[in-house]
Amino acid sequence: MKDKDLIAPCGMNCGICKYYYRSKNTCPGCRAPDEDKLRGCRECIIVNCEEIKKSKSKLCYECSKIPCKRLKNLDKRYKTKYHMSMLENQDYIKNHGIEKFLEKEKEKWKCPKCVGIVTCHGGMCLSCGFEKFIN
Ligand SMILES: [Zn+2]
Repeated sequence: MKDKDLIAPCGMNCGICKYYYRSKNTCPGCRAPDEDKLRGCRECIIVNCEEIKKSKSKLCYECSKIPCKRLKNLDKRYKTKYHMSMLENQDYIKNHGIEKFLEKEKEKWKCPKCVGIVTCHGGMCLSCGFEKFIN
């Protein structure tokens, strides 16, 4: 998938998720076919949201109900534990476009030591173990 396709409807960047990179039980990203995804991702209430399906929105910011309770809950969890905010991502994409967002993400999750990828789960570089974000 293209980088752009790794952005889930909620604003999560699947390209910074540890499950995307691990060698076993990999998750190819929220927008991949259901049968390839991890159960939690397949059953996520946001990707299965009626509003998203009904409106054919690619991202939650296109929905009239944003920020809904589901998204707010998810956002709170990720802000507290995983160094990112779905709502801020939505805002950024809405105002600056997805290409700019992807550039910003690349910088944010790049390891300053070895230019490897830092994931939001644990905040550590997958290549050298450098802790960019401390939990
Ligand atoms: Zn590194």
